[in-house]
Amino acid sequence: MASQSKVVIAAIATPPGRGGVGVVRVSGPDLADFARRLTGRFSSNNSFPQVRKAHLCRFLAADDSALDEGLLLYFAAPNSYTGEDVVELQGHGGPVVMQMLLARCLELGARLAEPGEFTRRAFLNQKLDLAQAEGVIDLIDASTQAAARSALRSLSGVFSEQVHVWRDKLVDLRMLVEATLDFPEEEVDFLQAANAFVRLDALHAEVSAMLGRAQQGSLLRNGLQVVLAGQPNVGKSSLLNQLAGDDRAIVTDVAGTTRDVLRESIQVEGIPLHIIDTAGLRDTEDAVERIGIARTWKEIERADVVLRLVDARVGITAEDHEIDGRLPVGVPVIWVFNKSDLSATPAHEEPARESAIYLSAKTGVGIDLLRAALLRIAGWEGRAEDVILARERHLSALRTAANHVRTARQCSEQLDLMAEELRLAQEAVNAITGEFGADDLLGVIFSRFCIGK
Ligand code: GDP
Ligand code: ZN
Repeated sequence: MASQSKVVIAAIATPPGRGGVGVVRVSGPDLADFARRLTGRFSSNNSFPQVRKAHLCRFLAADDSALDEGLLLYFAAPNSYTGEDVVELQGHGGPVVMQMLLARCLELGARLAEPGEFTRRAFLNQKLDLAQAEGVIDLIDASTQAAARSALRSLSGVFSEQVHVWRDKLVDLRMLVEATLDFPEEEVDFLQAANAFVRLDALHAEVSAMLGRAQQGSLLRNGLQVVLAGQPNVGKSSLLNQLAGDDRAIVTDVAGTTRDVLRESIQVEGIPLHIIDTAGLRDTEDAVERIGIARTWKEIERADVVLRLVDARVGITAEDHEIDGRLPVGVPVIWVFNKSDLSATPAHEEPARESAIYLSAKTGVGIDLLRAALLRIAGWEGRAEDVILARERHLSALRTAANHVRTARQCSEQLDLMAEELRLAQEAVNAITGEFGADDLLGVIFSRFCIGK
């Protein structure tokens, strides 16, 4: 499959805006010549550019005037990120300089890279497999440290290695079953002697365990949608701050979503919590605000949990019941009786509620109970170290593989069916690393990357 594309691609790899350094990345065939033309450094013995050396250069326009001065790095195929020749130009990180540098690269024959095209080429040149490529974008998009570490594990191939081990086991089992098919008289004995059933059980257990880790990873990646509902002044904003604790500073908005004042992301033990404050949901004539409110209600419909905040001194009021009427049905609700520091006894008129927590957003007393309740609803097992940052695609492949392995195990009387089930299991497993990747699948995956990656 290793195919070098004929086309040179280029893109600004650093984010837009001002910065100390900006990087233009170029990939394609024979970039040594490209580098010489860009810098005007023609050398008779062709010693420029040297691989993996930082060359301080002037980057020249067509008329030989300087566009910028910076570092040029050259990576010769196949020892580069994409597996092709790669040139990285580190210039001054201003938007105008970067645009001029990029335009010059296009003038020299490059075309603008599509989102994810560098990584796509890396995949096509077998520098990384599909699960690793997804690790790249997940690392870039990670919204918590735990998610970032987990993505890095995928990127460095931990997940892929496990997938390869399963593939080898499945190939062994398939060969065994196929061979047995040729000796119909003693087939079951033969398989038993080869431990086939024990091995199938073990494989099923392994895939299922990984599915569990992947589901945890999905949580780490997507987090929990939390709706904070309560009347003004009950302490919603205070609770948000208290929940976020020290982690607040490193919380970022999930890439691609527009910053919405009604929505805030924090994290609890590395799990992203996307919190929607319903205080913004008021009647308004303002058209723009109405659009924002409509969008917020859409999000509320996807809530994983609702935090119903009331003042412990006041308890649940008629207005609270009105709020309840508008919240999604069937979603777990945690009643939070806030300002417990001001109320010696819980609000007297309240019936005991199973999922009620008394706390003080001001002093922090009781906040641990709320954290634990949230993590319990999320199903978080609290072992970020061995979590796989899985995508829906991985989860469904793992489920499919586990099902086929289990069915194969039940086919001991019909070995042709067992062989077919094992083949399907292997197909599912291969899809994870993309060894069996349809082109349209690749298109979907790589189009989500940013330009320059
Ligand atoms: P929101 O309108 O629901 O977001 O409420 P705020 O978080 O803005 O809090 C309203 C007021 O109640 C502020 O003066 C807070 O300092 C205060 N407050 C919030 N939580 C507590 C608490 O647990 N104990 C006490 N004593 N005051 C609180
Ligand atoms: Zn508030």
